[in-house]
Amino acid sequence: MQKVIEKNVKTYMNYINGAWVTSHTNEVSSSINPANKNEIVGYVQSSSREDLDAAVSAAKQAQKLWRKLSGASRGDYLYKVANKIEGRLDEIAESMTKEMGKTFAESKGETARGVAILRYYAGEGMRKIGDVIPSTDSDALMFTTRVPLGVVGVIAPWNFPVAIPIWKMAPALIYGNAVVLKPAQEVAVTAAKIIECFDEAGLPAGVVNIVTGPGSVIGQGIIEHPDINGITFTGSNEVGKRVGQGALARGAKYQLEMGGKNPVIVASDADLDLAVEGTISGGLRSTGQKCTATSRVIVQADVYDEFKEKLLAKVSELKVGSGMQGETWMGPCSSENQLNTVLSYIEKGKKEGATLLYGGERPMENGTENGFYVQPTVFENVKNEMIIAQEEIFGPVLALIKVDTLEEAVELANDVEFGLSASIYTQNIGHMFSFINEMEAGLVRVNAETAGVELQAPFGGMKQSSSHSREQGQAAIEFFTSIKTVFVKA
Ligand code: NAD
Repeated sequence: MQKVIEKNVKTYMNYINGAWVTSHTNEVSSSINPANKNEIVGYVQSSSREDLDAAVSAAKQAQKLWRKLSGASRGDYLYKVANKIEGRLDEIAESMTKEMGKTFAESKGETARGVAILRYYAGEGMRKIGDVIPSTDSDALMFTTRVPLGVVGVIAPWNFPVAIPIWKMAPALIYGNAVVLKPAQEVAVTAAKIIECFDEAGLPAGVVNIVTGPGSVIGQGIIEHPDINGITFTGSNEVGKRVGQGALARGAKYQLEMGGKNPVIVASDADLDLAVEGTISGGLRSTGQKCTATSRVIVQADVYDEFKEKLLAKVSELKVGSGMQGETWMGPCSSENQLNTVLSYIEKGKKEGATLLYGGERPMENGTENGFYVQPTVFENVKNEMIIAQEEIFGPVLALIKVDTLEEAVELANDVEFGLSASIYTQNIGHMFSFINEMEAGLVRVNAETAGVELQAPFGGMKQSSSHSREQGQAAIEFFTSIKTVFVKA
């Protein structure tokens, strides 16, 4: 908890029932710039269950009217929010970069994506929400319609501070739910700015609320709250499992998007320059802190040396520094905790007998001394059973694995507990299709880096990466609504 407040640093409030309010605890925590640990970006409320209760009760009341609006009217509000965020794009992006370290260009791209998601779901308000099913009774009409869940709790991670809350809140709202957002505390200033845009757009009081605070208090409170009907969670597997078990125990609907250990396969016939570019971008952008980040690079032996040489040449050119500096390619880890986790995995890799080819250290030049930086790191001689090839590191660490055949490559690619994103680089159409068929991943990509997808397409994972529902696009309706089957006898 922050006891001494610096006067020129802004304090952000909770937003409950259309008003900005301080927490009942009267305590705040500070959001730190990972590029410079001496800079406090803002203070955010360290809330209690009482604050959460107030938000849920406001949401429950507001949802009764919100659900009665037409989808088109709800869509009009989302268009307004999109315009507000667009008008503050640079300011919001700067806040994101200062809170969690990704480069300003990436933050701008993510914020623009948030705007596009809002506009996409605004349009969803006018699309069909049911089907007519022929009845065997010729005097009857049988059809399905969809109804909102009620109050939806959104528990979000720190790595996509704008896009993830929006891709959960926008579909929740368009289908008639009210929302209580609990962002990750590390990026709660950016989340507050997004909620300011909802406020400025004039949504009815209580339809959208934000309560910031520790996961163990506010997140756990969302899991247990009897008036929260649906929980949409993105974050680690450890917390995701708690969310799933807790929601199941009280009959709430839940959706979990969790970790990844995403492979890239480089076939003998690949365009190696393209594969190098995709491996670097997929693995090291956002400092490797993406659920879809490439972490295992499985390369066929006959092109291995050439690929490795090209990869190292490019990795050694990457500029590490503050995300607010124009020339920076890779920013810091998002927090000291995250940096320590990454460094400990690097140590484990060395201990297990992998060969450190590049990086592995904290850089100490160009003003990086005060930040949570680590060099882009490449290991080789990695065996798929090693910890660094099995566990999610969530940092800029690539593990090169050499294989003889593509069959072996796909087998190793699948030999992890996760199944989020996977790529192959090949020019051979047969190889492409066997990869598409065999790969156990929700997002399968050919000649493209491991990543998410365009916002109108379903996003999600298999195995331990997800609860197997899908986010984004029209797939989102499955989670944020219930189907009602109607039978009408004339
Ligand atoms: P995290 O699980 O630590 O936190 C996620 C959220 O859960 C935060 O808001 C946190 O405060 C909250 N939380 C913490 N403890 C809780 C508890 N006991 N009960 C309820 N909520 C609690 O994850 P993180 O470190 O913020 O994010 C990184 C993780 O997110 C990585 O594993 C990454 O792969 C995953 N992620 C997945 C996707 C995806 O779509 N699959 C996208 C982005 C990130």
